[in-house]
This record gives sequence, C-alpha cells and structure tokens, in this order.
Amino acid sequence: MADRYLNFTGTAPGRFLTRRLGLPQPSPLRRWTPESPSLEGELLHLTAGESPHEADLRQILTRTNLTLATESSHPAAVVLDATGISDTPGLAQVHAALHPVVRSVAENGRVVVLGAPVSPSDHHQAAAQQALEGFVRSLGKELGRGRTATLVRMRSAEAAESTLRFLLSPRSAYVSGQVIEVGDAQAAPCDWDRPLSGRTALVTGAARGIGEAVAEVLARDGAHVVVLDVPSAQGDLVRVADRLGGTALPLDITADDAGERMASALAPDGLDILVHNAGITRDRKLANMPADRWNPVLDVNLTSVLRTTDALLKSGTLNRGGSVVATASIAGIAGNVGQTNYAASKAGIIGLVRALAPGAHAEHGVTVNAVAPGFIETKMTAAVPLFIREAGRRMNSLAQGGLPVDVAETTAWLAASASGGVNGQVIRVCGQSLLGS
Ligand code: NAD
Repeated sequence: MADRYLNFTGTAPGRFLTRRLGLPQPSPLRRWTPESPSLEGELLHLTAGESPHEADLRQILTRTNLTLATESSHPAAVVLDATGISDTPGLAQVHAALHPVVRSVAENGRVVVLGAPVSPSDHHQAAAQQALEGFVRSLGKELGRGRTATLVRMRSAEAAESTLRFLLSPRSAYVSGQVIEVGDAQAAPCDWDRPLSGRTALVTGAARGIGEAVAEVLARDGAHVVVLDVPSAQGDLVRVADRLGGTALPLDITADDAGERMASALAPDGLDILVHNAGITRDRKLANMPADRWNPVLDVNLTSVLRTTDALLKSGTLNRGGSVVATASIAGIAGNVGQTNYAASKAGIIGLVRALAPGAHAEHGVTVNAVAPGFIETKMTAAVPLFIREAGRRMNSLAQGGLPVDVAETTAWLAASASGGVNGQVIRVCGQSLLGS
C-alpha cells in the first residue's frame, strides 16, 4: 500500500502546506541499491575525552566508503567516540563536539555515538555513560530529514566493525534511537561485499512479506537460502526459492517433529543462520478472545521457535560461528490493544533471546539476537483500518512506515559471522517508534 502522504510531502506544495499546518514532514529514506550501495560524502570522526580506541577506530572508519574527515561543513555521517568519558563533567565535551555540527549533517545522514560498557562498580562512569543513552534517544527525535542517531557500546573497535559498517550505510535506514552493545568477540575475516558467502540460511515464513525480503537479502549477501513456509503456501514458496537459487522446505513449524525435519533437510552440512520469521496474529480484546485465538498465536510465534531452536542446537545442526535471529515486535515491548496473545508471544521471544544468548555462545559458538519490527508496510499492515494505519506510520521519528527490506538488512547484519560480538540484543527496526520507547 503506497504511502500517499509521504509522496505528497515530497512535492513543493506538499512541503509548503504541511510546514504551515505543523504536520509531520517525512523525508524519503535512502536505502541500499546495487548502483548506490553506500552513503556518499564525508564521515566526520570526533572524539570526546581520551579514547582508548582512537587509532583502531580511525583504521576501521577509513575502510568505509565514506571520506574520513576531522572537519566537514556537510558530513554524510558523524561518529563521536565518547568511550573515554568516565565522569559527568566529561559530558560537556559531547555537547561541545556535536552542537556545532548537528545542523549540517546531510539529509539521510547518520550520527553514531560510541560509548563504553556501563560499569557496575563505578557510579560516576555509569552515570556519564548512561547519560549518552538519553542523549542519543533525544537526538534521534530531533534530527528529522531521514537522519538517524544510534549509540554503540563497545569494548573493541575491531569487534564493532560490522556494526559500524551497517550503521554508516543505507542498510540501516529505518534503525534509529537504538542502543547496541557489542562484546569483544574476535572478528571473523569477512568479504564485506558478500559477508554471508558460503553460509546456509533457513528462513521461516519466507513465502511472502518480511520473510521473503529476508531470504532475498541473505541470498544477495552470498548465503544459500532454504525457505520454509506452510505446505499450503508451497506454490509461492517454490517461486521464491527458484528466484533466489535456494531450496524450498514446505513445513508447518508447529508440527511436533518440525525441528527434526529441519535437521534432516539440512544434513549433512548443517545450518549457519536460522531466522525465525514466521508469525501470525489473531487479534481480539482478551474479554472476547476464545482459546482458539490465543493458542495458535503462542504456538506459532513462540513455542515452535523454542522447540525448533532446541532441536537444532541439540542435534548439532547449527554450526559453530552461526547465528539465530528471532522476530519480536514493538507490540512485545509496548503492548497493544487487541493483541494480548501476540504481544505475549513477542515478549516471550525477547525473554528467550536474552536467556539463551550467553549459554548458546559459550556452548555452541552461536549468537542469538532478535529484530523487533515496528510499523512495516506489508499486506498485514495494509489491512489495518485507515486511521490506525496512519497513526502507526507517523508515530515514529522518521514519520513513515518501514519496508520489509529494512528488517531484512538488520537481520543480515546480525547473521554475519563478522557480527559475532553482537549477542543477546533486541534491535528495534521501527524508525524510533514512540511506542515503548
Ligand atoms: P505475513 O503474514 O505476510 O507472513 C508470515 C508468513 O509466515 C506467511 O507466509 C505464513 O504462511 C508463514 N507462517 C505462518 N504460520 C506458519 C507456520 N505454522 N509454519 C510455517 N510458516 C508459517 O507476515 P509479515 O508481516 O511478513 O511478518 C513477518 C514477521 O514479522 C512475523 O513474525 C510478524 O509477527 C513480525 N512483525 C511484522 C510487523 C509488520 O508490521 N508487518 C511488525 C512487527 C512484527
């Protein structure tokens, strides 16, 4: 469903009228295309305080496609290294660094603030580093014109390279106001043009919508994709598999033996990337919700994710260095009228990811993360009544809905072995939705 308001505000009369009426003014977001895969322009590298990462970081930023600068009148992106700030007087340097440049950041530009992990034993450092979170979330709400702000808490610049490349590219167009923790896992060598080369990915619910887009982006990045959906969607599923040079696996994930059937379909080489995308809604207020609308949502969205992940880990099907990406939702963070079942299932995904991630990494060498989409333009959201749909689209810092490809790009970043330091994270792909923020 086309966003007519976004198209209208892109015209001269539309801009004039919406400005006069004080209405939201979304900028069309710049996304990855083969012709234009990078942001273009200068990358302003600023440091607040004494950074332990300055030299390593410069190396990494030089490897992005942007031109590294220490001064710029119109930067495409700004990286502020605030990892060295260990007390609240140091926060003045954050203001001093960004206040003069923030207005000049280009349309669709990026502001990435780098922080240090919050210390549990030094309350001065904790206050200063936690302050960065409120700062970045507020800046994301102020920037406008398709610009985004993100905080990355990192231990080593090297482990953060894949995250920085994602954030400093058009692939992260609909990710804003997020706080991302990156551990110090050793970064795997990576072909940055095809970061998933040689890997096998299984995507559930891939016959259409977000799952189809995820399969497409993973295949673009070099993965062999195994696309799974219910047997009744086999026609569409085979079309997706054929288009992407992948393999179709018609299977209902709620079947008792679904995990075992996935494992045997993936034998003998196993699986590197598991994307739990399949999901359903059966909306109704709790007072009107019979068990036959509650149970299937919990079964598909949560129980089957737990059961199949356990089976694939237990059978050793998930290879070391692999990754699991599950699909939550901002409904699982903020709650939603008529969605007690759906929000419970999606909040359950967040619990599963946070609890499983450390052990799965230690024992099996795999990362476990979640994407939490906000309002994404799909058949599902096109069916939402007009006024609720318009509210869903506009109530975020970018004042528009995301596209399935935005969830797919975020999934591909999390799935890359170069992102091994990102574990147990829930990344909202919501344009910094006001809901649950
Ligand atoms: P969709 O309905 O277009 O696609 C879901 C796919 O999952 C379908 O192809 C369906 O056949 C498949 N599926 C359902 N039950 C299955 C089962 N038992 N076994 C195998 N496959 C099954 O939905 P979408 O909008 O593309 O959403 C994809 C995911 O993103 C879901 O988990 C959804 O909850 C989540 N999400 C979507 C939005 C949004 O705005 N569209 C927002 C937040 C979260």
